[in-house]
Amino acid sequence: MSRTTRAPRAVGAPRAPRALCALAGLLALLAAACGKEGSPPRKGPAADKLPDYQVAQGFSLPDSRTWTRARKRGHLVVGAKEDQPYLGEKDPATGTYSGFDIEIAKMLSASLGFPPESVRFRTIASANRETALQNGQVDYYVGTYTINPGRKKLVGFAGPYYLAGQSLLVRKDEKDIHGPRDLAGKRVCSATGSTPYQRIKADYPKAVLVAYDTYSICVDNLLTYQVDAVTTDDAILIGYAAKAPGELKVVGRPFSKEPYGIGVPHGDNALRFALDDALRAREANGDWKKAYDATLGLSGVPAPHPPAIDRYPAS
Ligand code: GLU
Repeated sequence: MSRTTRAPRAVGAPRAPRALCALAGLLALLAAACGKEGSPPRKGPAADKLPDYQVAQGFSLPDSRTWTRARKRGHLVVGAKEDQPYLGEKDPATGTYSGFDIEIAKMLSASLGFPPESVRFRTIASANRETALQNGQVDYYVGTYTINPGRKKLVGFAGPYYLAGQSLLVRKDEKDIHGPRDLAGKRVCSATGSTPYQRIKADYPKAVLVAYDTYSICVDNLLTYQVDAVTTDDAILIGYAAKAPGELKVVGRPFSKEPYGIGVPHGDNALRFALDDALRAREANGDWKKAYDATLGLSGVPAPHPPAIDRYPAS
């Protein structure tokens, strides 16, 4: 798990000196990440299992200012996560990104006429997604990004391409937490600017919320007994649990609907509609399922039917 985005902003005060916690967290993660023989697990699926996306020839989208700018630049810049197993992960040794979100980004780039291997990924944390799209730091964003009415006022969304639900991650020895109602008086960690953070704050005010920029820092805190639970989408938590099966487990049933969209700059309807069309075509030709099977499917959850695309009117 990467630690490059470490910028803690705890709501509650930590119970041990921060440097000590960081060291303990690192040791726990190293222990969790090491295989039986002491070798770190391979990051992401084997390259030969990943689909090859056919690049659209002669594709042009002059009505999209984002596409036109990328064409002049010569490549797409796509925002993503770098510390979410099976979804968006960056190999610290090679800088390569992998996971289901990364595959979605690549298959869509191919439909827009850009070779997938030319995409430049940029890590953007949950709280910074809208600004990154508004400032043109990224052309589009694929990173467990829930479509909701509040965000639609700030950015556009193609998709959804996947439906997740909020859930809870706890330590294996946890006996008391089975669902969000059990969080009263418990320290629960989530990412700043995320929908799971907002839901706990609004609906479970007795929980003691702790917020960091990334979920991997929350997981460090869980492994070192600084918090009692981590909350975000099941798809994300399943990945962390799979990386540390001896230490962590996902409990209860999902208690929200989190439809994942592709974030685009607000008002670039041409790009949004082109991405909707591209997604529909990639679902129909089997690329979506192949990508799922080679990434998120490795967590053991069989491929669901992709959710219906919500092609809402130009805004
Ligand atoms: N899907 C939720 C959200 O967009 C949580 C995951 C995340 O923070 O990326 O806020």
